[in-house]
Amino acid sequence: MRIAVLKERAAGERRVAITPETVRKFAALGAEIAVEAGAGEHAAIADGDYEDAGAAVGPAAETVKGADIVLGVQAPDVELLAGTKPGAWVAATFDPFGRKDRVSAYAEAGLEALSMEFMPRITRAQSMDVLSSQSNLSGYKAVIAAADQYGRAFPMMMTAAGTVQAARVFIMGVGVAGLQAIATAKRLGAQVSATDVRSATKEQIQSLGAKAIFVESVAGIEGEGSGGYATEMSEEYQKAQSELVSGHIAKQDIVITTALIPGRAAPRLISDAQIASMKPGSVIFDLAVAQGGNVEGSKPDELVVRHGVTIMGYSNTPSHLAADASALFARNLYNFLSAFWDKEQGKPVLDEEIGNAVRLTQGGEIVDERLKG
Ligand code: NAD
Repeated sequence: MRIAVLKERAAGERRVAITPETVRKFAALGAEIAVEAGAGEHAAIADGDYEDAGAAVGPAAETVKGADIVLGVQAPDVELLAGTKPGAWVAATFDPFGRKDRVSAYAEAGLEALSMEFMPRITRAQSMDVLSSQSNLSGYKAVIAAADQYGRAFPMMMTAAGTVQAARVFIMGVGVAGLQAIATAKRLGAQVSATDVRSATKEQIQSLGAKAIFVESVAGIEGEGSGGYATEMSEEYQKAQSELVSGHIAKQDIVITTALIPGRAAPRLISDAQIASMKPGSVIFDLAVAQGGNVEGSKPDELVVRHGVTIMGYSNTPSHLAADASALFARNLYNFLSAFWDKEQGKPVLDEEIGNAVRLTQGGEIVDERLKG
């Protein structure tokens, strides 16, 4: 069983799908590991660290030669995978709806694409879930980046020269990233409030010591669909939410938006008029900027200043914490494959529930129902 890992080639991608820690763990299962030279460069992992852990380090073509499984953060282009075993698995993020061309190319090449974004949201798969591990770090980084951009302090400070007021931070969307953003802003001493469309998050917000801002006037709306994800809300709800949020946003110094709806563009949460109502010097971090943005006018990897308010967001937030993001991503992949390791066969054998959820291609065909047709 040979596992190969290539250097990531997508622009701005600084993570790597394997670490010396997981090289050792895979080796303990009996696997042979090959890593492309320089793969860990941006995640503070030297080639020698991989070699010390027992991996062979070399050029790309040699790395993938004879591989049974290729691991990636973002799925490599199919041209890079020539020389892998027939039917080799590739476990990585595929952006399956955005990059159907790549999925088709994998099918044509006879590769088995395992999409880590499609990991089911079930308890036993939590340790395999890259969306959660990466969102957690993103929520933290958004607050740190916004704090750095903000020209004032976060905590209240009483000094001999007078008092500095605590920053008011508002988190919109309280999933994995939003919860970590609340916790981080609290640790920095800010006054924190948060909102979401899923009513279940109210208690979570309060348990972190933040204020919950919720639409109470529209009855019978839970906002929660399958797998704990949000659903698209009614027009009536959206209007009520916009009014409530407008009054609140005008008083905030920092706003972090994290709202996503699977398979759709990110919902628009902040309009230009709402930005104009904020104090000059305020900062908005749009964590959904790469999915179309929650904030009017936000642009990936650019500082946009509108009405004196700075709007920012990264196209790849976890990459800004490449070492930790890689460590967690690599553990997710190890947890996934090792959970299914068949000792007699010396390779992983996926079960139906998880295998059918993550498998996009097999036997030369696209097998995922969502992508067929
Ligand atoms: P997400 O990234 O899909 O969305 C971020 C947040 O934005 C969500 O809380 C969503 O409700 C919210 N949102 C969407 N539209 C909004 C709007 N118009 N206004 C305000 N907020 C809006 O969410 P996520 O981080 O993936 O988490 C969703 C849920 O799934 C959470 O309860 C999380 O704990 C759960 N989860 C479970 C597992 C598991 O069991 N394996 C794994 C990951 C997440």
